[in-house]
Amino acid sequence: MRVLVVEDDDLLGGALQTGLRDRGFVIDWVRDGIGADTMLRTGEYAAVVLDLGLPRRGGLEVLRTARARGDRVPVLVLTARDAVEDRIAGLDTGSDDYVVKPVAISELAARLRALIRRAHGAGSNLLAVGGLTLDAHSREVSFRGQRVELHASEFALLRELMLNSGRVLTREQLEASLYDLDRAAESNTIEVFVHRLRRKLAPEVIRTIRGVGYLLPRDAAKDDDA
Ligand code: CA
Repeated sequence: MRVLVVEDDDLLGGALQTGLRDRGFVIDWVRDGIGADTMLRTGEYAAVVLDLGLPRRGGLEVLRTARARGDRVPVLVLTARDAVEDRIAGLDTGSDDYVVKPVAISELAARLRALIRRAHGAGSNLLAVGGLTLDAHSREVSFRGQRVELHASEFALLRELMLNSGRVLTREQLEASLYDLDRAAESNTIEVFVHRLRRKLAPEVIRTIRGVGYLLPRDAAKDDDA
């Protein structure tokens, strides 16, 4: 899950980047409002962590601009403890949630997971598609009732496909959800991970749509025909 962090404070931004990466998020970090606006227009983000007091363009302005052009990405605003008006302004402008500084990373991560789930119409940490279940919190995956051990990148890829089951995802979309800007993918890594997932699960779980990308059908491998 690729998340944009917008925070001009180096210490806090660095802590958010490290802490959220440790919890399985892919993080791009920008330090001002113009940068945030540019990234939101070009990148594909599952959610945004947005500070309000930013150089060059304030966070509320960034949010207002994004909502005005129809961007519905979930936005979590960072506010100071006593800044009730900031929270209200953020919510009124179209933010989805807020966290009060000083930030507890584990709480922020939990709120991000909740926002991303809600944006995908899922009600809990447990994703279930066909014969697959995936727990985004405990990071456990089972297939046809059997636990499956996945490496971090395989898990991230499967989660993205499950969150978007029934939709074709391009290789570029999958890469964007798996890699930070400063850790670019090698050209064949998505194919490699898809291959590994098919081997660990079943070949038919992930369909290749030639010339477009990959699809996890909504009824993926539901029937145990073994
Ligand atoms: Ca700030």
